[in-house]
Amino acid sequence: MSFEKVDIRDLYRCVSCGNCRSVCPVFEQTGRESKNTRGRILIIRGVYEGVLDDDSVFDSINTCTTCGYCTEACPAGVDPPKLVETAREGLAKLGKMTPTQAKIRDTVARYSNTLGDDGDRLGWLKEAENGAGETKEAGNSGLKLELPEKPKAVYFVGCLDSYRYPKTALKTYRILKNLGVGLLEDEKCCGSPLLRLGLSDEAAGLVKHNTEQIKKSGADTVIASCAGCFNTLKNDYDLTGITVMTVSEYLMSHIKEFKEWVAAENSGIQKLDIPVTYHDSCHSGRHNHIFEEPRALIREIVGADNFKEMEACREKSRCCGGGGGVRSGYNELSMAMAKRRLEDVPAGVEYIITACPLCLRNLSDAGGDIPVIDIVELLSMAIKK
Ligand code: SF4
Ligand code: SF4
Repeated sequence: MSFEKVDIRDLYRCVSCGNCRSVCPVFEQTGRESKNTRGRILIIRGVYEGVLDDDSVFDSINTCTTCGYCTEACPAGVDPPKLVETAREGLAKLGKMTPTQAKIRDTVARYSNTLGDDGDRLGWLKEAENGAGETKEAGNSGLKLELPEKPKAVYFVGCLDSYRYPKTALKTYRILKNLGVGLLEDEKCCGSPLLRLGLSDEAAGLVKHNTEQIKKSGADTVIASCAGCFNTLKNDYDLTGITVMTVSEYLMSHIKEFKEWVAAENSGIQKLDIPVTYHDSCHSGRHNHIFEEPRALIREIVGADNFKEMEACREKSRCCGGGGGVRSGYNELSMAMAKRRLEDVPAGVEYIITACPLCLRNLSDAGGDIPVIDIVELLSMAIKK
């Protein structure tokens, strides 16, 4: 079994102490040893040693959301999600994969997005130019939607915002464009769903294509509004000399310019007297330590007193259950994790804010009473028309 991407000593560094059991969101729902970090590592060792390579390992290895909480909790310095991804990859290279892995592989190969959508990836922008639907509102507010010629930064929209949340894509671009941000000519899926599922060969063409697009743009910064895209662009791409940022980071690093633009175009940012909370996405939070900027941006909008932390937050944030292919492959389990996450919401808040469309989708589908919205939607509510 090929385990090229990890130091194999990591596989044997695990001392089976079980610290990770108490934090694994999958174990919290299933109570099964094979579905917690420690059990997974024992199974992955069996895969590596060639003892286990049949379909019986799938449910253990493929129910990990790659949330990374176990990495935080491990006293031995093991990085279990990396081992999980490597095991998935080793099995996939032997032609052993779940129907979900095969479906996502085939969908992305055919459509260059994870959703199987054959529409134009920049459809949301074209609608805006035509003044239709949501974009009419944008048109009424004096949007100039031609692309900046030499952008200093480019906005990587991602599959979900492009095809499922076009209004959020438009609002994000509307704000970023006025800070000199452009778009890629031909963005495709960043490859995150494939990489997290161990399908790195299948992701390689997308990574190469997007890397060329980013370099061709001449921008020195790429901004992602999806935590999965952000993590992948930052850690799986070779973008030497180019900074990868979340939308919150970019806005907070340009807050003066942003406020000046808002004041000039509109009458400013109206403080919203709305109590809200924030869900840290695992792939921007725990994996990349983007904790402060989204909170600072939310406080700019609603004031410090209206911002309430969730019961588990920052490094200890509970996973929404959507990542690592679990939403697609084990939807019931994914929804159980999302429902559990909603129990962490503090009383009295009117919105749950996220900075990741996958978290937004999973938490929304869990059916709570409190709307889950993107951070840019909150910001748009505060910009006076
Ligand atoms: S916390 Fe680390 S060492 Fe302990 S069982 Fe989990 S992975 Fe192994
Ligand atoms: S990454 Fe998350 S879901 Fe996967 S084993 Fe670790 S704690 Fe469990």
